[in-house]
Amino acid sequence: MADDCIFCKLANGEIPTDVVYEDDLICSFKDAAPQAPVHVLIVPKKHVGSLDECTAEDHALLGHMLLKASEIAGKLGLENGYRVVINTGEDGGQTVHHLHIHLLGKRYMEWPPG
Ligand code: AMP
Ligand code: ZN
Repeated sequence: MADDCIFCKLANGEIPTDVVYEDDLICSFKDAAPQAPVHVLIVPKKHVGSLDECTAEDHALLGHMLLKASEIAGKLGLENGYRVVINTGEDGGQTVHHLHIHLLGKRYMEWPPG
C-alpha cells in the first residue's frame, strides 16, 4: 500500500466509496466521473503503478481481475456486452497511477472517435 495513493486508500477501505464487489485481492467501485451509464473500476488492493509495472508475480492477479470483470459485468446487468479498458502510461491517458480496469456498459463513448 502506497501512502499517497488514492486508489490504495479506496481499494482498502481507508476512504469510503461505492463498492460493487470486493475480495482478498481486488475491490471494484463506481467511477467518480462516469463515462457511461455503468462505469466501475476494478482495482487491486496491493499497489501496482500500471500494467507496465506488473511482473510475472502478478500473473494470477491479472487473470483474476479479468475473470472478475466478466462476473461483475453480469452482476451489473451487462449481459449484452461491455467494454474493458486499461489506460497505461502518459500516452495511454492514465491519470491515476495505480493499476485499474475500467468496466463500461450500456452506452459508452464511441472509440475510436468519429
Ligand atoms: P485513468 O484515466 O485510466 O487513470 O482513470 C482514472 C479514473 O479514476 C477516472 O475515470 C476518474 O474519474 C476515476 N477517479 C479518480 N478519482 C476517483 C475517486 N476518488 N473515486 C472514484 N473514481 C475516481
Ligand atoms: Zn496504490
